Amino acid sequence: MPAQLISGTQLSQQLRADVARRAAALTAAGTPPGLAVILVGEDPASQVYVRNKVKACADTGIVSTLERYAATLSEADLLVRIAALNADPSVHGILVQMPLPRHIDPAKVIDAISTRKDVDGFSVQSAGELMAGLPGFRPCTPFGCMKMIESTGVPIKGKHAVVIGRSNTVGKPMALLLLQANATVTICHSSTPDLAYHTRQADIVVAAVGKRNTLTADMVKPGAIVIDVGMNRDDDGKLCGDVDFAGVQDIAGWITPVPGGVGPMTITMLLVNTLESAEGK
Ligand code: NAP
Repeated sequence: MPAQLISGTQLSQQLRADVARRAAALTAAGTPPGLAVILVGEDPASQVYVRNKVKACADTGIVSTLERYAATLSEADLLVRIAALNADPSVHGILVQMPLPRHIDPAKVIDAISTRKDVDGFSVQSAGELMAGLPGFRPCTPFGCMKMIESTGVPIKGKHAVVIGRSNTVGKPMALLLLQANATVTICHSSTPDLAYHTRQADIVVAAVGKRNTLTADMVKPGAIVIDVGMNRDDDGKLCGDVDFAGVQDIAGWITPVPGGVGPMTITMLLVNTLESAEGK
């Protein structure tokens, strides 16, 4: 039997409807949720990402402001702007779109954002809160993956989860979120000698690598939940993930598509984080 599809598009619609309802309640109470987005430079992909985030805010009743700066903006001037947004009570979330021009240190910029407004969850403080199991903002992509896994109704507790990839923004926080949900977690990376050995034992596989066909049907345990974070292009230039969807869908129990899977969930969790910041959670 082919795997059941976990549609990020559908799940996003449900979650965004809830965000819109709660945002309307905050607005009616006089404190509309606010997200400040900063874009430095002209990177074409960043412009698309920022446009999608601003539109998602508008669709759900979150007030967003987009500040665009030339690539020549100095690091000092960007830090001054972030300090002003930190102090602005109408701003509940601050997002600085990456990548930044080479002369600006991204770590310094991210850590300048108030922890209470770090809705991307990328700061060292937010990473530490996740690591320590404390409340705080979870990075949007792995947070969205957790929602997708939960949507299957399969209990995560006691399951063996394999995360492929260990980046600070996806792989590592993903592994920590699964650990927090009481999965037994294995993290694989480019130096893992036999990736298939690990993935074949996994009840849950999250692929966050950035290479097509990293996970093929022979590497998947029958009935497993497969979450595909990867965003790649196939030979025809079409968007595809890290998972060989055509092959794996015959083996897995649940699978996310690309496009229409993790991508929409990432933006949705940014909305959720911003809303919860405004709600004071
Ligand atoms: P990244 O920083 O490049 O990390 C990739 C990870 O994959 C690294 O940890 C690397 O290991 C590991 N890796 C590379 N080759 C491998 C192999 N052959 N076997 C096992 N592991 C291997 O990328 P990222 O930022 O985490 O993103 C991963 C993918 O997700 C990209 O395609 C990105 O575009 C996509 N993404 C999608 C969304 C979304 O919203 N859909 C959001 C974020 C990212 P080492 O650490 O050893 O180098």
